[in-house]
Amino acid sequence: MSKIHNFSAGPGILPAEVLKQASEACINFDNMNLSLLEISHRSKNYEAVIAEAQSIIKELFEVGNDYEVFYLGGGASLQFAMVPYNLLRENGTAAYLNTGVWATKAIKEAKLLGNVNVVASSEDKKFTYIPKGYAIPTDADYLHITSNNTIYGTQIKEFPKCPIPLVCDMSSDIFSRKVNANDFTLIYAGAQKNIGPAGSTMVMVKKDALGKTGRKMLSMLDYNVHIKGGSMYNTPPVFPIYVTMLTLKWLKANGGVAWIEKLNQQKADLIYNEIDRNSLFYGTVAKEDRSNMNVCFLMHKPELEIEFDKFWKDANISGIRGHRDVGGYRASIYNAMPIESVQVLVDVMKEFEKKFA
Ligand SMILES: *Cc1c(COP(=O)(O)O)cnc(C)c1O
Repeated sequence: MSKIHNFSAGPGILPAEVLKQASEACINFDNMNLSLLEISHRSKNYEAVIAEAQSIIKELFEVGNDYEVFYLGGGASLQFAMVPYNLLRENGTAAYLNTGVWATKAIKEAKLLGNVNVVASSEDKKFTYIPKGYAIPTDADYLHITSNNTIYGTQIKEFPKCPIPLVCDMSSDIFSRKVNANDFTLIYAGAQKNIGPAGSTMVMVKKDALGKTGRKMLSMLDYNVHIKGGSMYNTPPVFPIYVTMLTLKWLKANGGVAWIEKLNQQKADLIYNEIDRNSLFYGTVAKEDRSNMNVCFLMHKPELEIEFDKFWKDANISGIRGHRDVGGYRASIYNAMPIESVQVLVDVMKEFEKKFA
C-alpha cells in the first residue's frame, strides 16, 4: 500500500498508531476476547475509557474541578442548539461573532430560542478575515465565537477579552495550540477534525453557568442531565469516544499541546511561505488571520487547475480540493499530519511552477 498524504478537511487524518489500536479493539478489546463494539458501555473496562476521555481533556486544557466534560452524539451542529438552550435565558440576549458558515448556523439556532446580537461579521468580505475591535454587550448571557473557520481558513489568533461568559466552537483547532481554557465558560468540538473520528462531540462547561435559563429542559438536551449521568445518561457513542481518547493519549505521550503547537506552526509556515513565493498561487485570507489548520489557496489562472490536479494526484496527495464556497484548494494540516506530507505538497507546487509559470 503506498502512502497517501491525506489533507482531508473532515473527517480528517488520524495518527497511524491510533488507527491500528482502534482496529485491534474491534476484535479484542482490553484482552477481553470481545470486541469493543459488543460490550456494555457500563462494563468496568469501558468505564475506564470514558473516565480517561474526560480527564485527559481537563489535563490538556489545564482546568480544575469547576469544569465538567462529557461527550455527545449529534455533531457540533447539535451544540449550535444546545448552547442557547442551556445558556440563553428566556427573554435574554446572546452575542455572536459571525465568521463563517458554522457561526451562521449557530446564530440561526440561537435566534429560535431568544434574542441574538451579532457583534461583528466578516460576511462583507466573504469571511476572509476575523473582525476585531468590536464591542461586547455586558448584558448578554454569553458571547459565542468560532476559533477556527474550517471552510474559509481563518483563525482567531487573539481571543477577545470578554466580560461575559465566553463560548467557543473549537471543532477544527482544539488542542492544536495553547489556549487559556480558564477564560472560557464553554468549549465544544466535534471530534472529527482534530481529535478523533466522526460521531462524538466533546463539551466542556463550567458547572456554575448552568441551570439559569428559566426554561423547562428536555432531558437529552440538558447539559446537567449528561453531567449527572457521567457522560452515560444514554448509550454514548462508544467507539468514537474510545478513538478520541486514544488520539488524545497519543498527543499527550508525544509532548502535548506545546509540542504540537510548535509542529503545527512549522507546517503552516512551510505551506504559506510557498503560497506567497510561488507565482502561480495566492492565499485567500488576510495574512494575520491565516489558519494553521486549514490552508486555502487559489490559482491566478484557474484554467491550470486541471493540470495541477494531475500533478498532486500523481504525488499520492488526497483531499486538497477547496470547499465549494471558496473553490481552489484547501490543505488541512491537522495535528496528525506529518510535516513530511506538507513538504510533498510544497515540492509539487514548486515542480508545477517550473513547468507552467
Ligand atoms: C465541521 C464543523 C462543524 C460541524 O460539525 P458536525 O459534526 O458536522 O455537526 C461545526 N463547526 C466547525 C468549526 C466545524 O469545522
